[in-house]
Amino acid sequence: MVQGVGFRPAMYRLADSFGLGGFVRNDREGVWIEVEGRATDVDRFVAQLSSAAPDASRIDTVETATIAARGEPKFRIVESAAVDGERAAAGIPADLAPCADCLRELEDPANRRYRYPFINCTACGPRFTIVRDVPYDRAKTTMTPFEMCDACRREYEEPADRRFHAEPNACPACGPHAQLVSASRVIARREEAVALAARAIRDGAIVAVKGAGGFVLAVDATNESAVVRLRERKRRPHKPFAVMARSLVALDDVAVIDDLARTLLVDRARPIVLVPARRPCALALAVAPGLGDVGVYLPPTPLQHLLLTAGPPLQVMTSGNLAEEPIARTNGEALDKLASVADVVLLHDREIHARSDDSVVRVTSRRAIPMRRARGFVPEAIRLPVAGPPLLAVGGHERNTVCLVRDGQAVLSQHVGDLDHIDSERFFSEVIDHLHELVGAQPVAVAHDLHPDYRSTRWALRWAQNTKLPRLEIQHHHAHVAACLAEHGRTDRVAGIAFDGTGLGDDGSLWGGEILAADLGSARRLGHLRALALPGGEAAIREPWRVAAAALLDAGESLDVLSWVPSRELSRVSALLSTDLPVRATGAGRWFDAVAALLGIAAEISYDAQAAAQLEAIAAPGDAEPLELRIAAGEMFEIDLRPAIREIAHELRRGTTAPVLAARFHATLVLAIRESCHRTRERTVVLTGGCFQNRRLVEDATRVLETDGFEVLTHERVPPNDGGLALGQAAIASFQLATRRTTACA
Ligand code: ZN
Ligand code: ZN
Ligand code: FE
Repeated sequence: MVQGVGFRPAMYRLADSFGLGGFVRNDREGVWIEVEGRATDVDRFVAQLSSAAPDASRIDTVETATIAARGEPKFRIVESAAVDGERAAAGIPADLAPCADCLRELEDPANRRYRYPFINCTACGPRFTIVRDVPYDRAKTTMTPFEMCDACRREYEEPADRRFHAEPNACPACGPHAQLVSASRVIARREEAVALAARAIRDGAIVAVKGAGGFVLAVDATNESAVVRLRERKRRPHKPFAVMARSLVALDDVAVIDDLARTLLVDRARPIVLVPARRPCALALAVAPGLGDVGVYLPPTPLQHLLLTAGPPLQVMTSGNLAEEPIARTNGEALDKLASVADVVLLHDREIHARSDDSVVRVTSRRAIPMRRARGFVPEAIRLPVAGPPLLAVGGHERNTVCLVRDGQAVLSQHVGDLDHIDSERFFSEVIDHLHELVGAQPVAVAHDLHPDYRSTRWALRWAQNTKLPRLEIQHHHAHVAACLAEHGRTDRVAGIAFDGTGLGDDGSLWGGEILAADLGSARRLGHLRALALPGGEAAIREPWRVAAAALLDAGESLDVLSWVPSRELSRVSALLSTDLPVRATGAGRWFDAVAALLGIAAEISYDAQAAAQLEAIAAPGDAEPLELRIAAGEMFEIDLRPAIREIAHELRRGTTAPVLAARFHATLVLAIRESCHRTRERTVVLTGGCFQNRRLVEDATRVLETDGFEVLTHERVPPNDGGLALGQAAIASFQLATRRTTACA
């Protein structure tokens, strides 16, 4: 990662300090440096190269060779080499939050960029979201319409300047500007636009703001009625909102920020960090209803920094979209689609080329779990353990991401989202096109999920048909395990615990509570959670009490404990269960749903995994005794949770509280994982699938497994949920094509 991070100026300064001649140049493979001078100085240059590199850069390999001296007296930075035909492997950096130097200038009334929302330098600023093509040069970004003024050009051309070759370099005289629009009329420009927007937020208005990768919607996070109004207008009844804070200090009163959380919050990627909320606190209750955690972050752009400085110190900043649509990217989209949501729109005239949501990570006692990987992380490549030919992996259906591989480097796209929405499908194609521009690989195969109805699968089938190139079907939970193996650079066989909502299994049934023996080549199902009936199919996923009823009847219990559900509904579902042959699934997520409904929470859900998140939130802290569990042996073992359901029903009738039973259910799953691992012959365990976003589950399972001597691998770079699926598909497909262990489907 050497382009767009101030690498060439750093090399200039290093070469200059030794009086070396030569040059540095970006090319499609990375960076090319030639130095000449006294042998000892050349050696010292090479020795210090890595430590002199800027913080935001990353060097995978340094290759050196001796060539004849050209007699160059001075060191130069030369224009990028444009190599036709061959496309880039050189990393484009992710967007970087404003650096300390830029923030100081932003707040200095004497500086010519005082309160200028587009300040940046070689160490910070937009990158991925403004890049159209590689190599990373101003001419290939959305900064092309802005001609640098003399002062900016001098900085850009002066090797000693911290804006030397800062591609988005700009100032109030020559760069982009903000505008505030109300009812399609511009009501303020430049500094006044930002000041008025901040005042509007303070007054309780909903303001759409053009962020790094798209528009976000801002309201005062302490204003209950404003937050409630945002929920109504955005048609998002429960899904938690993230809160942006002016500073770490502003967060102290509302959230528990430990060392790990602090490190993540100030990271240049500026992700949303899920941390325990303090209760009660100044935040509106409608920010994260029913949850113990709150997502907080610091401003990722100078524009947002200014809004937080001039407006309320805690502001909800949530994706600028309706329900599950993709985030609005262009000014036109924002004015059109957000007109019914926002009171005013704060926009500007620098175009966003690549749409990208905010990233989300969750803090656990040991490390952060990625939940959504987008702005700040994409397009950082992940090196696959086994390199194969260039290929494309198209991911799953929900929380979709795609992955393009070249030279063993997997570039995972930003979060695309749920492909059910028509606009999401368009975004999906947009993302594939942009990845092609940046990575430049011509894929020779496509990897996709087994599920025939995923939009991504259908796209892959059409692609294979049109290109006459092979496609590889990858089983969902095998891909989950492989994603975790890939990010740890591993190829060995492990016990893969894949717990998620649902995914299609090898046998055509719905899986999701799987114990696999897997490596990158193959996976064998060793055991699974007992399958639960899903009365009403999709309806059972939207209304968890249906699954709870199925679990009770399966366990031979009466439905009296579901007293909060209208009896008419209950009898309809029991009739459905006795007469029909409902779909069954082993998904751990469905067991979470069932238990949550039994405990009377998540009566009504509106977002994926809501019941599981709320069950985790109410669980009593501290150790809990597992409920009764049976593991039925057989060719494949079955983790039978019926005894646990019977115990829950019994305890509920005795008046045991929901927090106690929620804690005991978590302990039961941890026990099930532990027992399962002992039934495999593996010593390494991978914990993967959406259920491992659950902090309690991942922490407790890791602890007991490590106590028993297992090595435990969890997700650190890509989400355990379906957002990581494309990486797993890419890793398996690369391995299979490289080792030719299988032939692809025709
Ligand atoms: Zn900077
Ligand atoms: Zn300028
Ligand atoms: Fe999944």
